[in-house]
Amino acid sequence: MSRVALNNIEKEFHGHRVIDGIDLTIEDGEFIALVGPSGCGKSTLLRIISGLETASKGQILIDDKVVNALRPKDRNIAMVFQNYALYPHMTVRRNISLNLEIAGLGKKEIDERVDKAVKLLEIGELLDRRPSQLSGGQRQRVAMGRAIVREPSVFLFDEPLSNLDAKLRAQMRIEIKSLHRTLATTLIYVTHDQLEAMTLADRIVVLNRGVIEQVGPPMELYLRPKNQFVATFIGSPS
Ligand code: ADP
Ligand code: MG
Repeated sequence: MSRVALNNIEKEFHGHRVIDGIDLTIEDGEFIALVGPSGCGKSTLLRIISGLETASKGQILIDDKVVNALRPKDRNIAMVFQNYALYPHMTVRRNISLNLEIAGLGKKEIDERVDKAVKLLEIGELLDRRPSQLSGGQRQRVAMGRAIVREPSVFLFDEPLSNLDAKLRAQMRIEIKSLHRTLATTLIYVTHDQLEAMTLADRIVVLNRGVIEQVGPPMELYLRPKNQFVATFIGSPS
């Protein structure tokens, strides 16, 4: 069973095609890095998978079910953004638990899930704070906590580390990798940082102007880029 299948996805904005016939199958447990230059359609593709945008054409399957017509909250996915998107007036605990409350889970179940995520992310001492009292790295941990407690089929990360400084970014990379291993989950990770993609991903998808140039394990792309665009973007030896 594949976790995510994209069949001939297209997206147009005002007659301008920004996603142009994407076919991609992602297996359970894979860490996929989606890379490409600014404006190539990475965020749009993630938003189509999550349901924040509708595809102009094509089918999106999650766990073998067509989800095109489903709202984001019914798709069993969780998204983590670059800008954290935390609610400023709520405590960390509430930010993490809110979606579960809305989904109607019982208090015991919510507390158990929050505890588990809090331990995993080591944010126990932050629970009563508000987002304004957190550092960038702490905010991103809280945003990940909010995603984890939903126990989604797929995590979608859109450049989650790009607001952090280089040192913190390196540290968070390791944490995200270990999180992926611990949760044995499926993750699609958008980044414009080749190093991040090379070190994190099982497979890298190189996107350019809304089309996939190449898909494969990091070393395959590095050593056997299909074309000059991939070679240049990945930084292959020439
Ligand atoms: P990336 O995340 O790779 O930088 P995006 O997916 O954000 O790229 O954008 C891809 C293209 O689609 C860009 O040309 C962008 O201007 C355009 N675009 C994205 N969202 C919208 C929108 N809501 N309305 C119109 N154009 C959009
Ligand atoms: Mg983007």
